[in-house]
Amino acid sequence: MNVIYLDNNATTKVAEEVIEALLPYYGSLYGNPSSMHTFGGQIHRRIEDARERVAELINAEPEEILFTSCGTESDNTAVMSALLSNPQKRHIITTKVEHSAILNFCKTMERRGYEVTFLPVDKLGRLKPGELKSAITDNTAIVSIMYANNETGVIFPIDEIAALVKSKGVLLHTDAIQAAGKIPLDVKKLPVDMVSLSGHKLHAPKGVGALYIRKGTRFSPYLIGGHQEKGRRAGTENVASIIGIGKACELAKKHVHDEHTKIKALRDRLEKELLKSCPNTKINGDRENRLPNTTNIGFEYIEGEAILLRLNEHNICASSGSACTSGSLEPSHVLRAMGVPFTAIHGSIRFSLSIYNTEEEIDFVLEKMPKIIKELRELSPFGKKEKPGSIK
Ligand code: PLP
Repeated sequence: MNVIYLDNNATTKVAEEVIEALLPYYGSLYGNPSSMHTFGGQIHRRIEDARERVAELINAEPEEILFTSCGTESDNTAVMSALLSNPQKRHIITTKVEHSAILNFCKTMERRGYEVTFLPVDKLGRLKPGELKSAITDNTAIVSIMYANNETGVIFPIDEIAALVKSKGVLLHTDAIQAAGKIPLDVKKLPVDMVSLSGHKLHAPKGVGALYIRKGTRFSPYLIGGHQEKGRRAGTENVASIIGIGKACELAKKHVHDEHTKIKALRDRLEKELLKSCPNTKINGDRENRLPNTTNIGFEYIEGEAILLRLNEHNICASSGSACTSGSLEPSHVLRAMGVPFTAIHGSIRFSLSIYNTEEEIDFVLEKMPKIIKELRELSPFGKKEKPGSIK
């Protein structure tokens, strides 16, 4: 099936080079990296090579990289470690627009007696650092704020946030799962203590992640058992996927420039043409500070699911701004936090591109979309509200 895949913030195609690099570890190279013999020991060395590649992507030192089973584990580990390492502090600060890996973890901690501040965002999905400043108290154990939002692509001013949080002596974690590989990240320049990464968002397999832990940061393991990962995360390593994330980070470092030029150009054309050809349509989120691959578009007066189904008929994959695809009928918590109006929140679609998308694919989407939107609006009880002059 020839699929036009514009859902790269959900997951990405595993790069051919990554598959090639990891396959031997499902075959002849099956040794346990903890074994004393050479057969296992050689695997250990390969894991350390992968660690170097991951470190290079964010300009970290290899020993600051911990391999995990996914981005969710990295996020949970970071916050839990801060709470366990500072048991006298019982306050967490995060935002209302985090991924559920942080949001639901913090809500669970709240039910367990911790105090959690969920910072608001404005209508463009931006955070006000001033609100963060007043939320920090002597009781704050950790601030966890995402680098870039998975739904809108909005990038938070992590440098400004980091300066503020560090001036108060509080731990700072950032979920950079959507940012890594799409924009350059440099932990030498950014005073964050922990950074989460996930393999399947950057063309590595699903089920592998990494957590950067700055040297000197007090750390309490989340998984307890064997001595793997220098005692910081027990469990026999997912060797093939670790090799895969290492290779993917090496490729991402090379491609990060393409994300800014080629992908951004494709995204911008898609966005501009859709705004022109589909009336009553607007972009959700700050267009200035945004990932180069993401656009979240509100098609007013229609249901996002209906758009997705029609796109699906043409093998075009995108995501809905409402969370119905994930089994809930609630509209997106991110768009709600931004105060996106009812008329647009349900018809919001996220297109997220990758280096594998082509001009021809974008042409095809641009050809199909206006017809889909027009037909759905005609079926909608609000269809008559279509006003060709009101494009924003
Ligand atoms: N954080 C963000 C911002 C994400 O986009 C995702 C995945 O969608 C996660 C965390 C969770 O990562 P994983 O699917 O690897 O658990």
